Amino acid sequence: MRETADVVVIGGGINGTSTAYHLSLRGLRRVVLVEKDHIASGPTGLSSGVVRQHYSHEVLAAMARDSIKFWETIGESIGGDAGFVQCGVIFFAPAHSEDAIKQAVAMHNRIGIREQLLTAQELRAMEPMLHADDIGFGAYEPDGGYADPALAANSFASAALAKGVDIRRKTRVTGINVDGQGVSGVVTDKGTIETRHVVNVAGPWGGAIAAMAGARIPVRASRHPVVMLHRPPAWSHETPVWADLVNGWYFKPDGKTGMMVGSLHDIADAVDADAYARVPTADEIAAYSEAIVKRFPIMEEGTVHGGWAGLYDVTPDWQPVIDRVPGIDGFYCAVGFSGHGFKIGPSIGKALSEIIVDGRCTTYDLGIFRYDRFGEHRSSRGAYEFGIVG
Ligand SMILES: Cc1cc2nc3c(=O)[nH]c(=O)nc-3n(C[C@H](O)[C@H](O)[C@H](O)COP(=O)(O)OP(=O)(O)OC[C@H]3O[C@@H](n4cnc5c(N)ncnc54)[C@H](O)[C@@H]3O)c2cc1C
Repeated sequence: MRETADVVVIGGGINGTSTAYHLSLRGLRRVVLVEKDHIASGPTGLSSGVVRQHYSHEVLAAMARDSIKFWETIGESIGGDAGFVQCGVIFFAPAHSEDAIKQAVAMHNRIGIREQLLTAQELRAMEPMLHADDIGFGAYEPDGGYADPALAANSFASAALAKGVDIRRKTRVTGINVDGQGVSGVVTDKGTIETRHVVNVAGPWGGAIAAMAGARIPVRASRHPVVMLHRPPAWSHETPVWADLVNGWYFKPDGKTGMMVGSLHDIADAVDADAYARVPTADEIAAYSEAIVKRFPIMEEGTVHGGWAGLYDVTPDWQPVIDRVPGIDGFYCAVGFSGHGFKIGPSIGKALSEIIVDGRCTTYDLGIFRYDRFGEHRSSRGAYEFGIVG
């Protein structure tokens, strides 16, 4: 039987499920989401889930601001849950980064984000376990925190399903047909779906999907470990998420007794997205443990209890491509989130639905995410030393 769709979304991570949901909200009747494995089986399911609004690019801060509102009320708006814990987020930097951090906070306040500058002494008063001698300033956003990305993506998938989206798990895209009018179909291992609109939200596999349609996105899969530790009993009070721009680490609470450690460094070495080491090595565990002890000396008494490694889909400027692909009508991409694409999932889905249904995104200015920018040698890298901060 000939199968047709208004839109085929490739990828069942946070951005694919959000896009499918937002397209169904706009009244499209035949939206098909194709996922080679299960929902959130890619980087979304291995994400740290930090939800922060601190960005140097205004459009990213605005997307994060709007997404936080969504995460706060997800149960009322679409049903389900995102496991959002609003413990606050603190970015702190050395004294020489004062201007960058002050400019970011001023921009955030201007666009309605609650955030305040704090001195090292004030940070230490907030968290007595913090080693603050090398810190110049911090920026505290009380509305940030962390969420459960797999739960959030599955909530979007359930809401999309309830609105009639056809979700095909265990279905792998193997080709994209293009004719004189643009995309004409998606070939899968379960058959071909004829369509004039295809959205590539395939994360680290997004470059390969783009190539199937004749497009080129310079995105590579890079491996990023996280290490989980138990805190000692003396540190069992609530604490925010800490982003250490002095040494390049982040520390995320896990309830009142755990901490996760991840790196902010620009690790962009390419790995095979289908065959990479999924557990941290002994050396990585030692380095990540040392990093948390340096910042929170009490963690000398902490214990490692696990960890994993996931993939970032990294572009040369650590920003995604969110665009219709010029020259291939009906082909849209949101790929290359470079380790910071979970929190903004609700805004990405809305933006893509506007591009597809209205012809352009009206809620956000997506200029920094243009497909053409790499060919034009333009960079959308953020103002901070670490690309992921954006
Ligand atoms: C360790 C780690 C920590 C992170 N921490 C944070 C954080 O704290 N905050 C934050 O905002 N972001 C974070 N991120 C980044 C964030 O998780 C990702 O940017 C986001 O989840 C990407 O979602 P996505 O939907 O774009 O893509 P993905 O989650 O990559 O989903 C793409 C999907 O496409 C499917 N697919 C691929 N090829 C095919 C095919 N041929 N056919 C069918 N389906 C296909 C895959 O199976 C996959 O499920 C982190 C990522 C990692 C790995």
